[in-house]
Amino acid sequence: LATPLFADLAGDARVSFEFFPPKTEKMEETLWQSLQTLSPLGPRFVSVTYGAGGTTRERTHATVARVARDTAIPAAAHLTCVAATRDEIDAVADAYWQAGVRHIVALRGDSPVPGEKFQSPVGGYANAVELVEGLRKLHPFEISVSAYPECHPDSVDAAADIDNLKRKLDAGATRAITQFFHEAETFFRFRDVATKAGVTAEIVPGIMPIVNFGAVQRMSAMCGTVVPPWMGTLFEGLDDHPAARQLVSATIAAELCRRLYAGGVRDLHFYTLNRAELSYAICHLLGIRAKVPVPARAEAA
Ligand code: FAD
Repeated sequence: LATPLFADLAGDARVSFEFFPPKTEKMEETLWQSLQTLSPLGPRFVSVTYGAGGTTRERTHATVARVARDTAIPAAAHLTCVAATRDEIDAVADAYWQAGVRHIVALRGDSPVPGEKFQSPVGGYANAVELVEGLRKLHPFEISVSAYPECHPDSVDAAADIDNLKRKLDAGATRAITQFFHEAETFFRFRDVATKAGVTAEIVPGIMPIVNFGAVQRMSAMCGTVVPPWMGTLFEGLDDHPAARQLVSATIAAELCRRLYAGGVRDLHFYTLNRAELSYAICHLLGIRAKVPVPARAEAA
């Protein structure tokens, strides 16, 4: 190994962080602490997810509005087409605009009944393409959409999936953020295919630092993401060793990011699961440093 690990990283990667809306006061506290830790890294934006079936509508709105009001970080709200008419979704989007939120992550979403196919609601948006078109008519939002390096499970084939991505971008989306994946080559293959198909917008890899390997295996199975066997080997025997597991997780995710960086990637989106430590450590390894002093607090406890 001629070059020391991570020495080739110039710290010029740009990051964004994804959170989910907290359910309890304690979770809310964790989220704001995480945000305080991560915000000095100068994220491009922080996004907040929208629960299946619009179940988190108020909580998502409250969280995004607070980020927009109380921090200097651009806030992005996830929005889905599930269980709502176009008018209802437009009203939610308009409320975001009025609250100063200028960025929407526009998604179709899934059926609120696990395992059931998505049904377009009567009078609703049928898919993310239609949602992007609707948002474009409403306000000049910045719009991010999803992309699937390993193909969306509802897609007929990879070509149809890329075509769907192109239509979302042609409808006015600014960028795509990918579903999580575990190997850099998976992303590079997808980026090549998308580029050949005429996609010119940025495709930002979604990075999932692993907090719980079992949960990630289940999620990967649901969304068609391949879990390489080496990963299972690395997490073997760590169930009762959370601190060791965290070190292993950080190493795996940082190595994935390092490979992506070596392949030209400069923008990364982290699925933080509302916890700062892993994402912070990975950013640090990537050479990204706090731009203002991090407030002292008991995060490591
Ligand atoms: P779309 O892009 O509309 O399409 C999904 C699939 O259906 C594609 O394969 C497409 O080819 C196919 N399809 C669409 N329209 C048609 C058509 N007319 N005919 C035939 N096939 C069609 N879910 C949430 O509930 N809340 C969130 O906050 C959330 N955030 C996410 C963030 C990111 C970055 C990602 C990658 C996913 C997120 N999801 C979220 C999950 C997402 O809602 C699901 O993956 C959902 O199943 C698809 O949504 P989509 O926007 O990708 O759908």
